[in-house]
Amino acid sequence: MQNKRRTVFFLLCVFILFQASFGLCLDRYDEAKLGREVFREIEKRYGLLDVPEVSLYIQQLGNRIVSAIENPSYRYKFFVVDQEVPNAFTIPGGYVFVNWGLLTILEREGELAAILSHELAHGEARHIHKQLETQKALAVASLAAAVAGALLGTDTNFSQAIGTGAMASASAVALKYSREHEREADQLGLRFLVSAGYNPLNAINALKHLAERQWGGRPGVLDYLMTHPGAAERIDTLRVLAKRWESRSLADSYLPDSFQLAKLFLIARKYDLPTYEGFVKSLDDKGEKGVVSPVVREFARGLLLTRKGNYSAAKFLLADVWSRRPNDIFAASSLADLYFRLGQVEQARSVVERTLRSRKGNLALHYRLALYCQELGLNEQALQHFDVAKKAPFLFPDLDYRLGIVLGKLGRLGEAHMTLGDYYARRRDVSLARFHYQKALNLLKNPSLEKKVREKLVHLGKIK
Ligand SMILES: [Zn+2]
Repeated sequence: MQNKRRTVFFLLCVFILFQASFGLCLDRYDEAKLGREVFREIEKRYGLLDVPEVSLYIQQLGNRIVSAIENPSYRYKFFVVDQEVPNAFTIPGGYVFVNWGLLTILEREGELAAILSHELAHGEARHIHKQLETQKALAVASLAAAVAGALLGTDTNFSQAIGTGAMASASAVALKYSREHEREADQLGLRFLVSAGYNPLNAINALKHLAERQWGGRPGVLDYLMTHPGAAERIDTLRVLAKRWESRSLADSYLPDSFQLAKLFLIARKYDLPTYEGFVKSLDDKGEKGVVSPVVREFARGLLLTRKGNYSAAKFLLADVWSRRPNDIFAASSLADLYFRLGQVEQARSVVERTLRSRKGNLALHYRLALYCQELGLNEQALQHFDVAKKAPFLFPDLDYRLGIVLGKLGRLGEAHMTLGDYYARRRDVSLARFHYQKALNLLKNPSLEKKVREKLVHLGKIK
């Protein structure tokens, strides 16, 4: 709750701050800069989800919808925040965020697609900008100054800098869309959803799940319903709008069972064993009613047995799931992970390699493959796969560390220290980062890399 309020509050502050520094009309450059700043702050303060398979799944689904939008205004980027409370939000610059908790309360790929479509609609309609204009009166100068101090300045503790009075006034306005903007985003979002090939009823079902959760579910305020108000009327309006596409044959999902497998993969990693076990039981009830497929139930039990340490029984189930869904990232990763735990690294590697053939470029699979190659002493191959995964460093917090070790083993010591320096710089461990960068400078023989390291050292001086 505290965290949630801080997220919303923090975003608001950043908007006010930038409003103060740039005026109300953000140009493209300022907007991109603002997006990057907020992204960095979110990454630093809340963290991103540490389950890359799931983050990539959401990203791919997002990209699928974006490709159905004619001339999108941004090159949209999708990120999963490491927060349980369900929420989704868009910030200027084309950044779309989803809290992982959202996934746990939805039932279908199409429902997640509907939420993403709605967020993309907010982005396309530039609602945040309009929002800032209507909140002109709220340009609390002292607040902006405090935030400037906290954000751009030095050592100041964020919450201390803000003070409780400002906190109260800011949370009263929060970053909340108007009902008019919600209607607009629903209309436009529904068009995106249908263009991407999904049944519009998914938008209604997604909202229903969120609303049920508010009334009958876990305690705590739901961020999504706070930031996107008017759920009940939205459901009614969506029902009317959806009629337009009633006659078209549209899908609820394109990757059979993948949504359910992704959700289980996530829940098995994020919740304690009793909670996960309860979830698996509820699936069995649904299975008996024919709502959940036998493969999904098998997968759920396979992960449960893995968590309980009953590896041989788990292997039997997960191998069967993978044989039925050989192209599925979650089926492959779960089985490979199990082989790895059993010390059967060669088998782990072969599972991932086979699935990668049909899911070319999947960064999570490349990362796994790098780990297994490293374990097998195949450092050259490990290096290649780490290099591919490095396209999205925020998905793999330990990548630079492992890459540094592999480079060291290959005798490329200068690069190894440079990469270890990157690892510690990312973790804001300035002294260790400096130590490795300086070692790198002594060892590197490549002038352009040396120049890079010098720049990194300068940058390091700016980290508090
Ligand atoms: Zn909305």
